Amino acid sequence: MELYRTEVVILRAWDLGEADKLVRMLSREHGKLPVVAKGVRRPRSRMAAAVLPFTHAEVLLYRGRTLERLRQAQVLDSFQAIHGELVRLAQATYFCQLVDEFTEERAPVPEVYHVLLEALRQLARGAAPLLPRAFEMKLLTATGYQPQLDGCAVCARAVARKAHFSASAGGLVCESCAASLEDAEPVSLGTVRIMQRLLALPLDRVQTLAAARPMDQELKRHLRRHLLYRLDKNVASFQFLDMLEGLTSV
Ligand SMILES: [Zn+2]
Repeated sequence: MELYRTEVVILRAWDLGEADKLVRMLSREHGKLPVVAKGVRRPRSRMAAAVLPFTHAEVLLYRGRTLERLRQAQVLDSFQAIHGELVRLAQATYFCQLVDEFTEERAPVPEVYHVLLEALRQLARGAAPLLPRAFEMKLLTATGYQPQLDGCAVCARAVARKAHFSASAGGLVCESCAASLEDAEPVSLGTVRIMQRLLALPLDRVQTLAAARPMDQELKRHLRRHLLYRLDKNVASFQFLDMLEGLTSV
């Protein structure tokens, strides 16, 4: 019988049987783990709060062949401020879903863990306008997919004017390389500068960044295409988040 202790963030949870839950956790050292949490839906369960989505918890797990079993759990941060507000809730859901899509079970990704935890902390402090974009950029970087923004991703020449962005090329491309890429689209140099700032700035400084209206839409479009190209599928939270952003910008 092998027990081990680790810190986790809860990505998702499903009801299982009468009183249990199947919980997908991102562990600091062990990557994404599927965990059976017995009895956590009983009214007096002391572990119930620790398996709610987005919760940062310390857990004691029993290593199973395919599923871990939860033995003890202690909430380190429940991020209450996220649960009380619909847009923050949607963003946290989006962050966790993206992490879920970008990770494999039992493959350690300490950088991704750090990025997710920091993004949830920032979100609990208050929704910064560019936090979702900053999170996307940091997640791409942590998984080795950061867009190339210093010069053209194809020919490496500096791109001083008529910049384009191509998800298939992996970032910024010059005008002549763009001509031979089907998915290259023009991008303003202002948006490229914001992308560069998002790459360089730690997540806890993202509150200091803002983008004017057309630029933030352009940023979102290009980053999203870059993400989707890496994932090769659509992420349900994209639509959900868009819907909420639409509601709140009216
Ligand atoms: Zn080029």
